[in-house]
Amino acid sequence: PPLYKQRYQFVVDFVQNYKPKKVVDLGCAHCDLLRKLKFHRGIELLVGVDIDSAVIRQNMYTLDPFPSEYLKPSDQPLTVQLYQGSVTEKELRIKGFDLVTCIELIGHLPLAEVERFSNVLFGYMFPTAVIVSTPNADFNPLLPGCSGFRHIDHKFEWTKVEFHNWALEVCRLYGYMVEFSGVGKAPCNEDWNESIGFCSQIAVFHKDSSRSDAYMRRENMEDSSAYKLLYNVVY
Ligand code: SAM
Repeated sequence: PPLYKQRYQFVVDFVQNYKPKKVVDLGCAHCDLLRKLKFHRGIELLVGVDIDSAVIRQNMYTLDPFPSEYLKPSDQPLTVQLYQGSVTEKELRIKGFDLVTCIELIGHLPLAEVERFSNVLFGYMFPTAVIVSTPNADFNPLLPGCSGFRHIDHKFEWTKVEFHNWALEVCRLYGYMVEFSGVGKAPCNEDWNESIGFCSQIAVFHKDSSRSDAYMRRENMEDSSAYKLLYNVVY
């Protein structure tokens, strides 16, 4: 399957394993991942956020319940909400979720804003788990016709080492543990081997409850509410 489907499947597998109740997808764009997740009825609150209100407005109705779902309501509650907002801003309404997904989002932020984003995500939102995927720049020479960045709107693409360094620093600062993974394997031949990593690199973070020192960092973070609600459906 194409890479983007493998990334969504990675999240779906995670959701099946960990059964989060509150999930937010940052940079949800066309709401494709949300459309897959809404069938996982362990989820009670499913939220999407994007800075681009037009892309949300064009796609939000694809999250509407089907007529059959109105006729035969599920016994498990599900609320779907979409917000316009920047992931670099603190938003009280998505604090303390079970899972935050950031699929191909981080490389679209100006590099200078990544630190602020990390602070909002891990310091303020402080979810139980986070999944971040981003292109692996080390892999680009393997992609036919790829000179420069993979996407015209990318502000940066990290090598495997750069991505790992960012993730490990976030763990140190905010009290998380990380596991590295990915989708899209390199072909093994005389030029390449597995050390190059995956085409899409993925970091999965979990709160580290033994790291009470990191709580200090959160203590004086004031609440704020910066997002605009564009869509709210209760199934
Ligand atoms: N996550 C989607 C997926 O995997 O199919 C699409 C990701 S798309 C490549 C990146 C998205 O991030 C765009 O829809 C863009 O509008 C959004 N984005 C960029 N900067 C953002 C910000 N500061 N806050 C929220 N969303 C942002």
